[in-house]
Amino acid sequence: DPVVQVRDICKKYGNLEALRGINLEFQRGKLTTLLGPSGCGKTTLLKIIAGLVPATTGEIRVNGRAVTGPGPERAFVFQDFALMPWATVLRNVGFGLELRGVESVERNRIACRYIEQVGLAGFEDKYPHELSGGMRQRVGIARAFAVNADVLLLDEPFSAVDEQNRRKFQEDLLQLVELEKKTFIFVTHSIEEAVYVSDRIVLLSPRPGRISRVIDPSIDRSAS
Ligand code: ADP
Ligand code: ADP
Repeated sequence: DPVVQVRDICKKYGNLEALRGINLEFQRGKLTTLLGPSGCGKTTLLKIIAGLVPATTGEIRVNGRAVTGPGPERAFVFQDFALMPWATVLRNVGFGLELRGVESVERNRIACRYIEQVGLAGFEDKYPHELSGGMRQRVGIARAFAVNADVLLLDEPFSAVDEQNRRKFQEDLLQLVELEKKTFIFVTHSIEEAVYVSDRIVLLSPRPGRISRVIDPSIDRSAS
């Protein structure tokens, strides 16, 4: 069964029709990219799935149940990472667990595992301002993985990572998605990135935002 179902979603901001008639299903362990030009509604759709923006009409179902707001089964990674500047990498990554009352030894064990997975082992005691933009972005992603949500929603997750580190970071993420069987949905405007990382590309066109094509890149990642 699909983890997320998007049913006939429409979104209006006043008179502006941002999305019209969006129907999609997302499966466990798969990575889907929402791709399209600026203004086609990618971020709006991602935030509607996250429960952060209400749809005008239509329905989002997660694990078979209709949802109307955010929930622990969905983790959203903001474009600006939303890290706590006064807390270390370890504390930031473990913060979602802290909110859920997970005790510190267990919390730190889990946080360390994801810090390592995103390539930041050794940076546990650093503060956000001591890290580059790309490293902060990875902290945000480690935090999303640490809370063990079924669905990870990311807005331009690779935008702050520089060229040299991007491919490695993408590979780390692909490995995590496969390993943990998460449902991974992310927004990008880069075709290259979408083709490299996705199991499926949903191409949106603007005014109003609609699905123009769904592409299965059928790529052999091991070959590139
Ligand atoms: P994308 O992520 O593809 O660039 P967005 O979802 O950000 O697209 O925006 C889709 C359309 O909705 C754009 O025309 C944008 O200006 C408009 N829009 C987005 N957010 C708001 C908002 N909060 N209020 C009014 N219009 C908005
Ligand atoms: P940006 O600074 O463009 O946001 P990155 O964070 O990917 O992008 O990289 C910035 C600098 O930080 C690079 O010089 C990179 O080598 C270094 N860097 C990134 N990740 C690590 C890491 N895990 N360990 C050591 N250095 C890193």
